[in-house]
Amino acid sequence: MPAHYTWGMWPSKIKHCRECGTAVEHRLPGDGDTKVRAICPRCGTIHYENPLNVVGTVPFWGPQGEQVLLCKRNIEPRWGKWTLPAGFMELGESTAQGAVRETQEEAGADIEILDLFTVLNVVRVGQVHLYYRARLLSDVFQPGHETQEARLFREEDIPWEDLAFRTVRETLRCYFADRRKGQFGVHTGDIS
Ligand code: ZN
Repeated sequence: MPAHYTWGMWPSKIKHCRECGTAVEHRLPGDGDTKVRAICPRCGTIHYENPLNVVGTVPFWGPQGEQVLLCKRNIEPRWGKWTLPAGFMELGESTAQGAVRETQEEAGADIEILDLFTVLNVVRVGQVHLYYRARLLSDVFQPGHETQEARLFREEDIPWEDLAFRTVRETLRCYFADRRKGQFGVHTGDIS
């Protein structure tokens, strides 16, 4: 591994050229770019890889938002662990639209989406996680196949040791802290 290239996702998983199918080489492009890229020796295509957005919601219920909806995962990774509804953003949608879609797909929950709440960089895996606060319009859920169970939790019942992802833990921690203060802000941070 080149000394200047310490990013955790190296080496690239790209094996073949997206344009012509030829096996790619992993090297510096030689145009001043300091990152190793997957480069096609036949057609010259440089395959740039960039972080992916994960979008989701903190769906809350109750007059003071005292309960939050969590989903028990029915898929790997982290099968059986609890998560906020979230998933990879798709082309053709905004971050908020993606968050609503994931909430409907994973929890079958009707929501009114509110403000952006957390923006968390997970540099090691090349992801940015964005969570919106969302008001639940019903406490009846119809979870999809990715979810074993969708249910509401009060702060004291949150399964902190059985959460699927650190971004979920951090977002829930911020939610209940802001709720106690009676004011919700936007929280940014890095998950190392
Ligand atoms: Zn090619």
